[in-house]
Amino acid sequence: MALNQEWVLRWTELATRAAQTHREELTALDRAIGDADHGENLDRGFTAVSEALSQTPQEDPAQTFRTIAMTLMSKVGGAAGPLLGTAYLRLSSAAKPAMEAGDVAAMIEAASAGIQARGRATEGEKTMVDAWAPASRAAQEAAQSGADCVGVLQAAASAAANGAQNTLDMVATKGRASYLGERSAGHLDPGAVSSSYLLDAALKAADK
Ligand code: ADP
Ligand code: MG
Ligand code: MG
Repeated sequence: MALNQEWVLRWTELATRAAQTHREELTALDRAIGDADHGENLDRGFTAVSEALSQTPQEDPAQTFRTIAMTLMSKVGGAAGPLLGTAYLRLSSAAKPAMEAGDVAAMIEAASAGIQARGRATEGEKTMVDAWAPASRAAQEAAQSGADCVGVLQAAASAAANGAQNTLDMVATKGRASYLGERSAGHLDPGAVSSSYLLDAALKAADK
């Protein structure tokens, strides 16, 4: 079954809840290799997103993703705000009123490419790219093998979770964590972990 505006709104609701639930955990991860604000940043951002979405009637996925993008850019701040804002802007451009499996894979690819363009990071630099890039590849593969929308999101969410775990041993070469050099190894990247929660929320919103 194709995904629609109802999915987008439910995804956003679950993402907002995940940002709340994982707030302390994400901030603790950022305390180890950053400035201990990632959980707060994300929670503040998504709380503002919920308010913004409730204030204006939401017509379609493109409009909703755009509102999310603008809100995250203005409320999250730091590195993650512009990066996630760009991801959601790309989702907005790629979204359709009815999204089939191939469209969903293309959206994840667009978001991943947007993050890479904005942050100039590639895989292996211990950033959120290490969750998004494998998620995008897995989503494309699933769509090409005939998976439905839920199957594509399952592939993406599970690859993102693996990708986030794989940041543990990486040495950061982008963002605040790069100031620590070799000492950044042995800790998970907070943005990769939160990105895996976002994609997990996308799956749960579709898998009813
Ligand atoms: P800040 O570092 O400004 O306090 P956050 O703590 O909210 O911002 O977000 C930090 C996360 O942003 C990192 O864990 C990492 O995943 C991501 N990040 C930082 N710089 C980059 C970059 N250049 N490209 C991709 N992701 C990045
Ligand atoms: Mg931080
Ligand atoms: Mg900060």
